[in-house]
Amino acid sequence: MKTREVVIAGNWKMYKTIEEAQSFIYELMAMGTNPTSSIYIAVPFTALSAASTAAKGSSIRVGAQNMHDATEGAYTGEISGKMLLDAGAQFVILGHSERRHLFGETNEFINRKVKAALKLGIRPILCIGETLQEREENKTENVLQNQLESCLSGISENELRKILIAYEPVWAIGTGRTASSEQAEEMHRFCRGLLSSKWGGEAAESISILYGGSVKPENTRALMEQKNIDGVLVGGASLTVDSFNKIINYQPINRY
Ligand code: PEP
Repeated sequence: MKTREVVIAGNWKMYKTIEEAQSFIYELMAMGTNPTSSIYIAVPFTALSAASTAAKGSSIRVGAQNMHDATEGAYTGEISGKMLLDAGAQFVILGHSERRHLFGETNEFINRKVKAALKLGIRPILCIGETLQEREENKTENVLQNQLESCLSGISENELRKILIAYEPVWAIGTGRTASSEQAEEMHRFCRGLLSSKWGGEAAESISILYGGSVKPENTRALMEQKNIDGVLVGGASLTVDSFNKIINYQPINRY
């Protein structure tokens, strides 16, 4: 039995129209969800408002996949936390490896976004993770330490408790290659130790750390059995209701 909040989060990336998003949520709601997990779905900006309306009254939380740290301004193509809130977002994914690697986001920029989200009451899911090259060069712990310390710079203990961390090895995202549950657990333990050294053991023990990287119905249970893995962040397998629902119900539950 997990003592920390168990979070099953979907990241739809650049998939689904408004109508597809609504149908997905209605179907998922009709299936009944595991009452012991929190369900998060990060939808495209265009579907935020409709998806959050569709999910009203359910335990599904709808959120976004990115935001700018400024409240408003001349930032063509960007979106602010204030706008996300207006559209019904309850959380936001920040620092996803696709944002870091395809769009050049730095730890410093991500740190500003984390602070801006917290200020507005939008829960950040902060993503960290090493590339294959960094792993092969034995730099994984250095990379994770640097990402965690920089992205969480200036964050108070109280604020930390509102954040979800997602450890997502870049080499496992969208590749079909999952970290073994033991590899993932080792890194989760390392991250919790780091959080503990900066913010104290009590805060570190309360933080949910999710694993992401080719999570599927078949590997969810083994990952979730690990002591320091408190949830999963799911890309590809969150796109169909059937596979996402299987991940949510990774263990037999008593349906209500
Ligand atoms: C992700 O987008 O965060 C992710 C982990 O993707 P996938 O599950 O497809 O590897």
